[in-house]
Amino acid sequence: MSKTIYFIANWKMNGNFHSITEIENVNNFLRKNVFSKLKKIIFCPPSNLLVSFTKKIKAKLIDFGAQDISKIDFSHGPYTGQLSAKMIKDSGANYVIIGHSEKRLLDEDYKTIKKKISIAIKNKLKVIFCIGENLSQKNKNLSFKTLKNQITNSLDKKIDFNNLIIAYEPIWSIGTGIIPSNNYLDQIYQNLKKFLNEKYKVKYPVLIYGGSVTTDNVAILAKNSLISGFLIGGASLRSKSLIKIIKNYFK
Ligand code: PEP
Repeated sequence: MSKTIYFIANWKMNGNFHSITEIENVNNFLRKNVFSKLKKIIFCPPSNLLVSFTKKIKAKLIDFGAQDISKIDFSHGPYTGQLSAKMIKDSGANYVIIGHSEKRLLDEDYKTIKKKISIAIKNKLKVIFCIGENLSQKNKNLSFKTLKNQITNSLDKKIDFNNLIIAYEPIWSIGTGIIPSNNYLDQIYQNLKKFLNEKYKVKYPVLIYGGSVTTDNVAILAKNSLISGFLIGGASLRSKSLIKIIKNYFK
């Protein structure tokens, strides 16, 4: 069965109006290249850039996401500093990242994450839900237990998995240049699949990987058939490296 492979660019707090050329370059590349598997490229720039980018880029294989939405369940109102899910949707995004470890560190607890996921889906935004263990949890053999906790504390039992991409992002890998071994990943994804099937009765959850994905290691990661794509930080900022990542994946 041919499945969709996701390449999700998490620009974090980077980029400006001129960065649209990076997206245009990726679009030009996609137009000229046909790959056997389906793929989807989702750019998640800072929210101030969303409207101008989504207005300019109308491409079949490119979509947009935000890096956050408000936990306030109203479309508008007296909430200084907030951007509602509806505002994000209206700006042309179809996805939102929730539960990223960098955001958890700042201000997202389980209750907030759960609330945001439900608000996002209600507003027709698909959720890129991030989970991942830190180094100390890994060293204590608590990786999978941590992921299980993160999932059960954040996902409603009745969640529709058609609206969800789960990004496994070991915190010790994000921005460090270190990626887990294929054995380690294999174990994690097998366990995740089994657990999600048992608990949520989902047969084909979309599971992706994030953490130091580069042009050099993507081919190794591509060997794991349970991984349906990548959340890419640093290496997604320049079209040259993002294009090479896509090329190397399909090589
Ligand atoms: C991320 O933070 O989502 C991420 C994957 O970052 P990097 O690729 O830079 O490790």
